[in-house]
Amino acid sequence: MPQIIIHRGTHTIGGSCVEIKSNSHRILIDLGTPLMEKGGGELNQNALEKPSVENGILPDVKGLYKDTNPDIFAVFISHSHIDHCGLLNHIHPEIPVFVSKGTHSLIEIGRVFYPPQSKIFFENYKIFKHWRPVELGPFKITSYLMDHSGYDASSFLVEVDDKKIFYSGDFRGHGRKSKLLERIVEKPISNIDCLLMEGTTLGGQHKVGFENEEEVEQEFFNIFSKQKDVSLIMAAGSNVDRLVSLYKATRKSKKTLVLDLYTYYLLDQLKQITPGLPPFDGDNIRVFYIRGHAQNIVDHLDKSILYKYKTRKIEIDEIVDQREQMVLKLPVSALKKISKILIKKTPFENVKYIFSMWKGYLDKDSYHQDFCNEYNAELVHVHVSGHAYLNDLKKLAKALKPKKLVPIHTLSGENFSSHFENVVIYDDHAPFEI
Ligand SMILES: [Zn+2]
Repeated sequence: MPQIIIHRGTHTIGGSCVEIKSNSHRILIDLGTPLMEKGGGELNQNALEKPSVENGILPDVKGLYKDTNPDIFAVFISHSHIDHCGLLNHIHPEIPVFVSKGTHSLIEIGRVFYPPQSKIFFENYKIFKHWRPVELGPFKITSYLMDHSGYDASSFLVEVDDKKIFYSGDFRGHGRKSKLLERIVEKPISNIDCLLMEGTTLGGQHKVGFENEEEVEQEFFNIFSKQKDVSLIMAAGSNVDRLVSLYKATRKSKKTLVLDLYTYYLLDQLKQITPGLPPFDGDNIRVFYIRGHAQNIVDHLDKSILYKYKTRKIEIDEIVDQREQMVLKLPVSALKKISKILIKKTPFENVKYIFSMWKGYLDKDSYHQDFCNEYNAELVHVHVSGHAYLNDLKKLAKALKPKKLVPIHTLSGENFSSHFENVVIYDDHAPFEI
């Protein structure tokens, strides 16, 4: 009988790591950096900087790390968010890492633009295709492409010893790819023995007032079309759904979308995987060159990329001259530089700083509010969670009818049984059979 060990995730959000074992054969799903202590407390920063098994940052998985004899078949990564893949630097180079094309691409882009401590390196990797099973010893692993704020995210079906385990990964049903959840619900996989399902939003801090990504796009449009001055926006580059919403809303309101080199390069790369993504010839996207980003491109990629994007390059003068046309999605440092010049000409009156990320970051990083105070911009929160709300969690659980439903990636596991059937809560590190 196969065994599952959730090394981290039974009582926390982030840092997921699940081991599945059949006799002496083992695979791992996700190896993420924790975002918080078990139960939600703040992590020790020193421990995070020097992760080890002893200080509890690295999950205690035998035969996984560089200083041991490799004894794990493979590590499967559900998506590129750091809380699902951030500890891959520590694994033994002989252990293959299985990733989707999009996940691999985003990790590679991170190696170009992220600060050194956030870069993820692994030499030995294999690309899996969604919906195409990978067979490894007794395991058959199939990725199901899912709707999530992280691009190209997977759920995994693991078939082993005549049992079926479904790992939801991070997912939602209110993004731009809600069809992916519908597809699973309409043609559910039968006889699921164990469903490991996330429950990030169940604590209630993830509701913002928007129900889905379409409403976010509509609100962007409302703001941009009424705005008689520049619009400023803060969103994660890797939230590709959000970039598309932004692109569509700026286009509809006939404004110019100004992206930094990192975000533009990211879209340009991912377009090779998803051709429907912007940029398109003759679109409304311009690129603001930030010295640090340009240097990263020269150091890690090729200078020719800077020339390739030159036709889209925008200078501060043009932004100032046509300020009412501009929607700037740039880092705060660049927004400051530009805003300084803008307010010298005309002070901001009704300028909005659209914060389009999880509001927890606002409490963590005061520089968003500081920026707004300093430049007299109004902070407005336009966002929808990257994670499923209760109705979609219920949809998945109902469709898959698991014999056992185990909460993961949640601070509200104890509440699962009021919403779902067959819930069993385990503790981190505690092996259980299915
Ligand atoms: Zn995620």
